[in-house]
Amino acid sequence: MANQDFPLIFELSQESRTGFSLPSMDVPEIDVDEQIGNAYVRKSEPDLPEVDELQIMRHYTALSKRNHGVDSGFYPLGSCTMKYNPKVNEDIARLTGFSHVHPYQPTESVQGALELMYDLQVSLEEITGLDTVTLQPAAGAHGEWTGLMMIRAYHEANGDYNRTKVIVPDSAHGTNPASATVAGFEAVTVKSDERGLVDLEDLKRVVDEQTAALMLTNPNTLGLFEQDIEEMASIIHEAGGKLYYDGANLNAILGYARPGDMGFDVVHLNLHKTFTGPHGGGGPGSGPVGVTAELEPYLPKPILRKENDMYMFDNDRPQSIGRVKPYYGNFGINVRAYTYIRTMGPEGLKKVSEYAVINANYMMRRLQKEYELPFDHHCKHEFILSGKRQKKLGVRTLDIAKRLLDFGYHPPTIYFPINVEEALMIEPTETESKETLDAFVDAMIQIAEEAKHDPEKVQEAPHTTIVSRMDETQAARKPVLRYQA
Ligand SMILES: *Cc1c(COP(=O)(O)O)cnc(C)c1O
Repeated sequence: MANQDFPLIFELSQESRTGFSLPSMDVPEIDVDEQIGNAYVRKSEPDLPEVDELQIMRHYTALSKRNHGVDSGFYPLGSCTMKYNPKVNEDIARLTGFSHVHPYQPTESVQGALELMYDLQVSLEEITGLDTVTLQPAAGAHGEWTGLMMIRAYHEANGDYNRTKVIVPDSAHGTNPASATVAGFEAVTVKSDERGLVDLEDLKRVVDEQTAALMLTNPNTLGLFEQDIEEMASIIHEAGGKLYYDGANLNAILGYARPGDMGFDVVHLNLHKTFTGPHGGGGPGSGPVGVTAELEPYLPKPILRKENDMYMFDNDRPQSIGRVKPYYGNFGINVRAYTYIRTMGPEGLKKVSEYAVINANYMMRRLQKEYELPFDHHCKHEFILSGKRQKKLGVRTLDIAKRLLDFGYHPPTIYFPINVEEALMIEPTETESKETLDAFVDAMIQIAEEAKHDPEKVQEAPHTTIVSRMDETQAARKPVLRYQA
């Protein structure tokens, strides 16, 4: 790493210094060789740094300051919904009745936790307009796979074994074709037209008796609402296929439109995006899936039921695709999402999508003076710019993203979607103030000016970060993942 600003923990190590104390053993000592097997028992001490408690504290605090998070600055990463995670969620998730229960406790002893899960399912059914929701999947992509496995089970139960294709628009999130492939389908691309929406003629061309489903994000990843959604739904349904809705970024339509009402059969939501589960550090997430009554028999088991005012798990589900996650999903993230929904209430959730959409449109209109706007419609929660003009001056979108780091911002998503040249995908979210949006736009305008008058400044950015410009190829091909003295 360049520009070391503090010594690494290995360099501080002093023999025999310790920063921990363990309580004395209160269980019988075991014969490790015998219990674990001699071959697996470590023969020498691990080479760990020997430091005191204060040193290790400073080490991790210094490392944490090198990180960028929503709590430290603006994070307009398109399609990721990096919005504020209210701290009241954390208080509720830490209540011992939620944090100290064991998933395999007798259900009579965890009725409160089960009630929360049940009520969250009911809320998500209302929000999506679908009949039943499972909380099991651990992330968006996991929800996609779960939904597709249910669609497969449905077709097979109807003796329909030839439905091997899943249609995915070229603007789709990368997880869509990946999930279709992992679920054993062939992903077939449908093109977008000049509006940035699914090309209906192309859809009619690719759909056939082998179509298992169409996977769609609406609004799509260009931040545009698929106006022809009802016609698309009837094209797919008439061909015997099912409609899958990628609801990872539901904050564009929350409280205003429901996938179930648009004709979708399956929906996944990302509770770690729209519903304020903290994310960005790699998890845990939660990707509940909602289905119509027709697909209900195939839901992962067990399902949560309420009978005679008691909550219980039902495992008697002969047509279920089986369990997709140990226990019942990432409970802690579900508690946070439940808290968020209850804090906001129905009116508050409508305001979420209002502000998300207004913020995105405000930024888009201010930025279009300096940056190419490939799809000039009102957007939903996010929008796409193209760095085409800057590219002509020798400044690429990657350079613009790196230069933003100097201003203290996390860059937007770049080079995605792939159908836009030099794409920048910006999602401000509803939780940012006008001052923050303006400051970011001002930085983007300044960078556009620099591209005209001082391109090297942008090409060589970042200048103020601890780590300067990486060699992207080397980083991908030969990553150095271990500290080496
Ligand atoms: C984030 C996202 C996903 C994937 O969700 P993960 O939880 O990261 O697996 C899928 N689709 C869209 C549109 C997304 O924004």
